[in-house]
Amino acid sequence: MVKSITPIRKVFSTHANGNEASILMHELLGEEDGPTIGISAAIHGNENTGSQAILELYRILKDVKLKGRIVLVPVVNPYAMAVNHRYAPNDENDLNRQFPGTPTGTYSQQLAYCFANEFLRKIDVHIDLHSGTDRPTVDYVYIWNNDDLSRAFGSKVLYRPTHGKSGTVFGGTTTTVTVQERNIPVAVIELGGGIVDQRPYIKRTVDGLINMLKTLGAIEGEPVAPPKQTVVTELTGIRPTHGGWLEPLCPANGEFIKGGDLLGRVVSPFTFEVLEEIKSPYENGIMIMQHLTRNLVEAGDYGFMVGNLEGATD
Ligand SMILES: [Zn+2]
Repeated sequence: MVKSITPIRKVFSTHANGNEASILMHELLGEEDGPTIGISAAIHGNENTGSQAILELYRILKDVKLKGRIVLVPVVNPYAMAVNHRYAPNDENDLNRQFPGTPTGTYSQQLAYCFANEFLRKIDVHIDLHSGTDRPTVDYVYIWNNDDLSRAFGSKVLYRPTHGKSGTVFGGTTTTVTVQERNIPVAVIELGGGIVDQRPYIKRTVDGLINMLKTLGAIEGEPVAPPKQTVVTELTGIRPTHGGWLEPLCPANGEFIKGGDLLGRVVSPFTFEVLEEIKSPYENGIMIMQHLTRNLVEAGDYGFMVGNLEGATD
């Protein structure tokens, strides 16, 4: 059994409405000593599939024999999640580009500072859950510094960035940079999203997290071997240049797509004219992100993501 479960609230500032600006964590302490595993979600406020998975995971873990500690942060960016927005609306900063943050900055910069010091720098393993939003659906796992941990989640497609620990690769410094400064294992999961039932994605996330916890020895049981996996080192995000109905035409995530094949098209909701045809960029590609329903988009919104099978490995 878990020895104790302690909610920990860290207050770092105030909101203009007088409420405290804070992060809430749940510390699950096991009977036996062991490493501290941190699992977080919703650093981007409109990616809440992982938050729901942490809720389900919490319900399971409280009755499980645990070795070490697990710290759950179901919602890293609460202000953003409340309005289903990627960024906190009070400063519109991308929280996952602000690390290690500053105690004298904007709300998001102070939140990053608090999250770095109270969570990222106190854990021995980090698993960060991202997803698509309420439009695109995504399905891959980053390999940053620990193949076994990333593979144990069980996704078919993994992405090994060739830019390594570069802090500016996304145009800002992410959690992984702060975590990798201490050379601890980190895995970033991208799964779910879209205007579709999230329950299958939540279940896959919970199953994947449990398999990772078994791999790490935090809970008992033999981990399940991953399925056949493809590791890409290059992927491209393709955004529509027109607003309108984005109609998906591509195969499912994890499936192959040939160069020049249509990923989807943008159709005018008004004239019914095809405004744009979006083609797969690689000779041999694998689907990573797409829209599963006919969604209204603006120019520049997230469209599709395709991995390059050239140079990919098992
Ligand atoms: Zn994200």
